[in-house]
Amino acid sequence: MKFHSLNNRSNQASFKEAVIAGIAPDKGLYFPESITPLSQDFFENIEELSNHEIAFRAIHQFVSDDIPDNALKEIISNTLDFDFPVVDIEENVATLELFHGPTMAFKDVGARFMANCLGYFSQGEKQDVTVLVATSGDTGGAVANGFLGVDGVQVLILYPSGKVSEIQEKQLTTLGQNIEAMEVDGVFDDCQRMVKTAFLDTEITDHKKLTSANSINVARWLPQLFYFLFAYKQAKSKGKEIVFSVPSGNFGNICAGMVAQKLGMPVKHFVASTNANDVVPKFMENGVYKPMASIATISNAMDVGDPSNFIRIRHLYKDDLGTLQKHLSSYSFTDKSTKVTMKAIHSKTGYVMDPHGAVGYLGLKEFQKSHPDTYGIFLETAHPVKFLDVVEETLGLTPQIPPQIKKVMNKDKKSISIATYEELKQFLLKH
Ligand SMILES: *Cc1c(COP(=O)(O)O)cnc(C)c1O
Repeated sequence: MKFHSLNNRSNQASFKEAVIAGIAPDKGLYFPESITPLSQDFFENIEELSNHEIAFRAIHQFVSDDIPDNALKEIISNTLDFDFPVVDIEENVATLELFHGPTMAFKDVGARFMANCLGYFSQGEKQDVTVLVATSGDTGGAVANGFLGVDGVQVLILYPSGKVSEIQEKQLTTLGQNIEAMEVDGVFDDCQRMVKTAFLDTEITDHKKLTSANSINVARWLPQLFYFLFAYKQAKSKGKEIVFSVPSGNFGNICAGMVAQKLGMPVKHFVASTNANDVVPKFMENGVYKPMASIATISNAMDVGDPSNFIRIRHLYKDDLGTLQKHLSSYSFTDKSTKVTMKAIHSKTGYVMDPHGAVGYLGLKEFQKSHPDTYGIFLETAHPVKFLDVVEETLGLTPQIPPQIKKVMNKDKKSISIATYEELKQFLLKH
């Protein structure tokens, strides 16, 4: 299958080319040329399939030109070695827990899949690829972990000094091997700017193969459709129409879910739940897309003022607002109602939500006000310990620290401190 740029359909690339380039030369996002629905039989008998088999069949059409079946099976089994349980919270409300992976955020799936694809494509290449990525927290940890030990790939992660949580910093800075972390004296936007400058700097790119690992990369974006199918498999027996609510920032995750629907997954509706960063909820109301500077909130992995993947959702519905509204609703929630919800659900059911999951819960409940007879699933995108400060302050308790987090907390941080782009450049030229 070919992928084409959303800026110009005639700019095409194979899956391999799209993964290595990240973004098209005309700066457009890559999108699959076609999406062929899976057989009806697949959905009717999905309970009988293993998660690995479901993932293999779902992604096959997109990657099979470049990855032979055996290699794809191996990539999938390296990516998916943990659980994706759907847990009932209330009558007709359940959560899909996406935090059972190595860094306890849903980004583990995309990061691992991409790392394994890039590792596969690097086999036999003389030159290493360098993955350069800026992070405000969760992305860096998932990327570091996913790429650890992948031959032929070097990783350099830039993060804002003092602006990520202690757990997130440990996840970035303690792994060693092919992973290096740079601590930037500045904010996330400074890290992002340095990374973008490096990609355009021919003195660097002339002798180094650079690639990014953010959610616009097709190898990070598409595999996120897997766990919507795993959730469907678990929820199907409820015999109700299914609604997914996805806490959204860059809108890559929800867009992957909507691709699963295009593959034929029987789902009634999607809800994109956001914090105060409400560019998409406003667009869904009036059809005007107006990016803004991001607003800081307690669900900070969704503090995005110009969601990069939303263009893919528009494309999926041929940019027809009326049709899109039939499949997608979007609501914005304040930090205050997020905290009230975390507290209420905890005291009513004992379930501890992280602030992102709580936003997802709120969006689902909003939709169910007018669609009470649906079975709603909101995505828990991170384990509550990853946002420990907010959870402790809101609920007055400290969730038990899981073993994969404990393990990194005892390791020593190793990072390179920089303040200017020139320092990044010198590092890239020397290493
Ligand atoms: C990245 C992230 C999100 C947002 O996902 P998008 O695909 O960017 O919409 C939501 N919650 C958590 C915990 C995240 O890390």
